[in-house]
Amino acid sequence: MKVFVIGLDSAPPELLFGKFLKDLPNIRKIVENSIHGPMKSSIPAITIPAWMCMATGKTPGELGLYGFRHRKGYSYKDIWIAHSLMVKEKAVWDYISPKKSVLIGVPPSYPPKKVNGWLVSCFITPDSSVNYTYPKELKREVEKVTGGYVFDVVFRKEDRSAVVEEVWEMTKKRFELIRYMIETKDWDYFEFVEIGLDRIHHAFWKYFDETHHLHVKNEFSKVIPEYYKLLDREIGKTLKLLDEDTAVLIVSDHGIKKMKGCFAINQWLIEEGLLKVRGSIDKPTKFEQLDVDWSKTVAWAWGGYYARIFLNVKGREKEGIIRKSEYEKVRDEITEMVKSIKGPNGEKWNTKVFYPEEIYPECRGDKPDMIVYFDDLYWRSAGTLGYETPYLLENDTGPDDAVHSEYGVFSLKLNEVEGREIVTDIYKFCPTVLRLFGLNPEKFGLRGAIL
Ligand SMILES: [Zn+2]
Repeated sequence: MKVFVIGLDSAPPELLFGKFLKDLPNIRKIVENSIHGPMKSSIPAITIPAWMCMATGKTPGELGLYGFRHRKGYSYKDIWIAHSLMVKEKAVWDYISPKKSVLIGVPPSYPPKKVNGWLVSCFITPDSSVNYTYPKELKREVEKVTGGYVFDVVFRKEDRSAVVEEVWEMTKKRFELIRYMIETKDWDYFEFVEIGLDRIHHAFWKYFDETHHLHVKNEFSKVIPEYYKLLDREIGKTLKLLDEDTAVLIVSDHGIKKMKGCFAINQWLIEEGLLKVRGSIDKPTKFEQLDVDWSKTVAWAWGGYYARIFLNVKGREKEGIIRKSEYEKVRDEITEMVKSIKGPNGEKWNTKVFYPEEIYPECRGDKPDMIVYFDDLYWRSAGTLGYETPYLLENDTGPDDAVHSEYGVFSLKLNEVEGREIVTDIYKFCPTVLRLFGLNPEKFGLRGAIL
């Protein structure tokens, strides 16, 4: 059995299995004959850790990966950035060894780790001057085949025409490499992730979605549908190289939807008296630039598609003030306050607050005290502050019109297995793939295989 996994970062079921499917003949051919449906992401529904939750069948808590940035211990300022070496759990490709794998761009895979097969690292790779492959010598082949490999593009910038050009180039090169690897390596498991789709969604959503509060109709309105067609053509050319009996999966790490705005969480915490800052803030300012009075601060937060709120706990943080015995009470009170935040026009929000130890079987590493989805992720969280109001119409860190949604996609096409619709979750991917290879996932403590 060979297994080929097409990873499309942020592909939402509403577009890939819905609105666009009729215009994507190659993808349609797989999906219509597959076990397919929405796949619930991890909490948080973010690229890192979601792709690794999928590959390992483990939660962010078990992986000790709660996002991209992490606090170093309980330091106020020191952080570490997620990278491949932080992932200690076994992934699909470890379980199936000695069967051989090809992995291209599965986040986080920089720096490149040893695999039984071949690996090209992901979008967090700094640039192509570094060692980004396993084995090392593979890099020469990658550069030769692609004429200069591209890991990612800068997508939060004003020059949107440049984003189009760069993403198209990146994706075409990635598929050239994928086809080369299919044909020249002796693999059993093949997984790649195309990050371009996520970049295109974020950079062009307001031109595409007529219900977006900043919708503009112009030449950029076609970019999202055109990019899906590019993916379909590239996937079509690629599938021609596979044997009939190869199992083909299409998956995404989370979905995508319009951003309704950005909520300046630290500004709100100041207004509520939970965060104390010395001096006045009269212009947009990063949290790191503030002179925080920790001796009077109860909580502070980080921004992103979701918010992380941290509590200032006595004996844990250097200048902590919340007594350990009061921790639960204070956290519950802040949760009630956060959940009662309404929209800019007094509209009710569906805000979700998660406590790591309640949603994960284990919490390794540097967990936040609270994970917050403002209005079910429709409102991004801004870590910056110093605005007239905490409700911002645009993203605070550069042009971005979309946010993540909780459901990505899952599609599994197997020879002689009839297509049907399901609803699944990201943790079922790994046990399902192990089953395809004839392994018993339960032996490894992995449950929920759909086969
Ligand atoms: Zn993603």
